Amino acid sequence: MKILVVNAGSSSLKYQLIEMDNEEVICKGGVECIGIEGSKISHKVNGKEYVIEKHLANHTDAFNLVMECLTNKEYGSISSPEEISAIGHRVVHSGEAFDKSTYIDDEALKRLESITHLAPLHNPASLACLKSCKSIVDCPNVCVFDTVFHGTMPKKAKLYAIPYEDYEASKIRKYGFHGTSHKFVSQEAIKYLKSKGLNHSSIITCHLGNGSSITAVKDGKCIDTSMGMTPLDGLIMGTRCGCMDPAAVEMLAEFKNMSIKEITQYFNKKCGFLGVSGVSSDFRKLCAAMNEGNERAKLAFDMFVYQIRKYLGSYSVAMEGLNCIVFTGGIGENGPVAREAVCENLEFMGIKIDKDLNNNAPRGEMVDISAKDSKVKILVIPTNEELVIARETEEVVNSLKR
Ligand code: ADP
Repeated sequence: MKILVVNAGSSSLKYQLIEMDNEEVICKGGVECIGIEGSKISHKVNGKEYVIEKHLANHTDAFNLVMECLTNKEYGSISSPEEISAIGHRVVHSGEAFDKSTYIDDEALKRLESITHLAPLHNPASLACLKSCKSIVDCPNVCVFDTVFHGTMPKKAKLYAIPYEDYEASKIRKYGFHGTSHKFVSQEAIKYLKSKGLNHSSIITCHLGNGSSITAVKDGKCIDTSMGMTPLDGLIMGTRCGCMDPAAVEMLAEFKNMSIKEITQYFNKKCGFLGVSGVSSDFRKLCAAMNEGNERAKLAFDMFVYQIRKYLGSYSVAMEGLNCIVFTGGIGENGPVAREAVCENLEFMGIKIDKDLNNNAPRGEMVDISAKDSKVKILVIPTNEELVIARETEEVVNSLKR
């Protein structure tokens, strides 16, 4: 079975065609600048990259071009669209409208339309892409949500302390994001722990990238996570401020003479590593500046590490134990400096990193970087959100046949 995984942003569309028999990526690519100047597709197959520059007014144009590449006589991978058994869509927000990956029929499409306001930057793009796919390829479409893995959080963890009836009417609460990533790496970690004879798991998964979130996963279930109603909450990130005193929002808006919309944009785009350091939102550039003695870059780094460590403490207590920490995402997978700083001097919690293993961890595979006498396993696990989406899509499609 071949499954096409698509991930639509407001002006972008990433895709992978996956053969589920061996879970191999047949080809992949991305469309950029949809609806704006400079639109193009980069299609990668068999180690080669094909770039086509073409005006693409909307997601339908973009998806038509994806299909042209997939079926191209010279470098395509399928001879006709019928070879695609299903399309799996990454959707950021499920609200309370969906609690699992879902086959999108007319009723589910209406439900999806009713929650676009929950993720105004992301969900409308997914919806536009979904409608294009439905009109262009005749196969089942399945939505896989970033929030669903966090659906097991108990109310005491996911509710904000606003009047309960306001929560009930508005559905405003903590949802959490990066769910497919936290699910994938926690499941990989559980397999590893089982291979070591550990049948119960209390895992803290740290997805550290441009956007970062931390999740407490007890025996396979999420019990708490750092992002909230939106991906702005929790840790300091590339350009996002993370957790703040809500009363400071009004003060800052007044100080900056900004509306609520503008100040929210400012918290999403101008803060985090970029705002604190004044250097960059990119972690590598931040570290380079820090190593050259830039104090504000060092401050941003220290804030990041300090906040991650606080989550290690609070989530260990929430789970009443800890036997594994997982690092993933661009920073988590590739940044030994951050991993070492996060784990430093935590022997009292049973956390002890092997510095050599950490510094020399090969990229692209799971590595156990914990010291031999560390009670807590410390793992680096490359995430694979597309594979989770493809697996869930396959499962949903198979369940339709039963
Ligand atoms: P996104 O959240 O957009 O998916 P990624 O998971 O790709 O982002 O992470 C991007 C971040 O990873 C950037 O801040 C980048 O600097 C950082 N990163 C990538 N490679 C390295 C590396 N070798 N060392 C440290 N950080 C890295």
